[in-house]
Amino acid sequence: MSAAPSLSGISVQHPRSLFIDGKWLQPSSSNTLEVISPVTEKTIAIYAEANPQDVDRAVAAARAAFDHGPWPRLTPQERAVALRQVAAQLRSRHEELATIWTTQVGAPISFTRYASAQPAILFDYYADLIETYRFVDERRRADGGLVRVVKEPVGVCAAITPWNAPLVLLCYKVAAGLAAGCAIVSKPSPETPMDAYLLAECIEAAGLPPGVFNVVPGGRDLGDYLVRHRGIDKISFTGSSAAGSKIAAAAAERLARTSFELGGKSAAIVLEDADIGAMLQSLVPFSMPITGQVCFSLTRVLVPQRRKQEVLDAYVGAVRQVKVGDPAAPETQMGPLTMERQLRRVEGYIAKGKSEGAKLALGGSRPAGFKCGYYIEPTVFSEVQSKMTIAQEEIFGPVVSFISYDGIDDAVAKANDTIYGLHGAVYTKDPEHGYQIARRVRSGSVTVNGMIVDPTMPFGGFKQSGMGREGGIEGLDPYFELKTIYFG
Ligand code: NAD
Repeated sequence: MSAAPSLSGISVQHPRSLFIDGKWLQPSSSNTLEVISPVTEKTIAIYAEANPQDVDRAVAAARAAFDHGPWPRLTPQERAVALRQVAAQLRSRHEELATIWTTQVGAPISFTRYASAQPAILFDYYADLIETYRFVDERRRADGGLVRVVKEPVGVCAAITPWNAPLVLLCYKVAAGLAAGCAIVSKPSPETPMDAYLLAECIEAAGLPPGVFNVVPGGRDLGDYLVRHRGIDKISFTGSSAAGSKIAAAAAERLARTSFELGGKSAAIVLEDADIGAMLQSLVPFSMPITGQVCFSLTRVLVPQRRKQEVLDAYVGAVRQVKVGDPAAPETQMGPLTMERQLRRVEGYIAKGKSEGAKLALGGSRPAGFKCGYYIEPTVFSEVQSKMTIAQEEIFGPVVSFISYDGIDDAVAKANDTIYGLHGAVYTKDPEHGYQIARRVRSGSVTVNGMIVDPTMPFGGFKQSGMGREGGIEGLDPYFELKTIYFG
């Protein structure tokens, strides 16, 4: 039915090379990674795959840049100038960023055009912040005299990122890490390496010193090698909670610094007084953004017993109108899942939901009319019990569970009844009441009526959804070590 999103206009220049030490180097092996279109299921680009020797080279370059190079020794103001140049480069390639995201991931172009502004926003934001960051060098008085409490960059950081929003998630780490004065080794996801190449080109064009940013694409074994590398001081990881837990264990062996942005199973609590029409405007797009492949998706909708049918009918009616199709078409609201294994995973959860007794209120199958592509219908289950697998596990697809509750305490208990705690929403006509409920939800962020994720605010998880925060001042802190200097 639909054509492949076009790669024309994308000019990644060195796909068969690795960006190490400010140069485009030949990889140590001839191994390659294939980027598969989620629309045509065909290979659309081939990239170099790094191996452990390449990681050694990248870490050595980053170490040299950090231990002996100018970057950490520049003033914050000087680094800010360079970061703003990276932001300008990213802005000048905005349409390419959107096209790459849509082409690799299957995210609708209307969404990626909007969200591809974020990488430049992040670089500008951390440039502004580092210039004014008051606590980098603080003078205090102690019994013996003057003390200076200074923040120093933590060192060489591994940035390990997933495939769903590859550039935005990478830029949270790189913009903050570089602002602090760190050097970075990026290991992008093997399915979506193109964004890291584009960022490398922007950093190169902005004239940052060699070795401060390096790219070694590869899979989880390569990621494991990087995590265990003694040249890495800190690991910043975004991905699944399962992988996060393995990385935490590996890092603990040598007490490497870590921060984690992990999975979610976020709940939207619909209160008795909620305005359903207004609610649908944010709940529909943010229960299944990028075909449900976003960590903060509101995948559980908690509804009061008395209004459960009314809310379900309204939500199902609205989701029925979501236009599924070619992600490159401007009118498309939902594209395919990103890869075949995602399709199998989502189909497995739909089967599990049915077998455990949940009622299919919408979707559940491959949509008609698509000859190829990893498409799945937007799917809604009603009569879901909180202990069912589909209400407990992160599906990472367009599958939403309606769960009814009896009273506020039951709603809060059910919202908190998973291993996750990433995000949440409360819908009510009374914002103060919404705030009181939000305080009881055990998650890193909650939205009262609507949906906002602002990169200048801290984002992250309670429980198994993460450790630490990205975005805001709080996203800069993990890239520092504290040093206390006493003057006798
Ligand atoms: P994943 O955990 O399988 O992989 C993420 C990255 O880690 C990839 O680059 C992968 O190659 C690497 N990796 C995997 N195992 C590793 C290991 N043992 N050691 C080192 N590296 C390893 O996740 P995914 O399927 O790519 O992404 C989906 C997951 O990411 C979902 O759980 C989603 O919720 C989560 N996510 C979280 C956030 C957030 O900010 N909290 C944002 C986006 C995605």
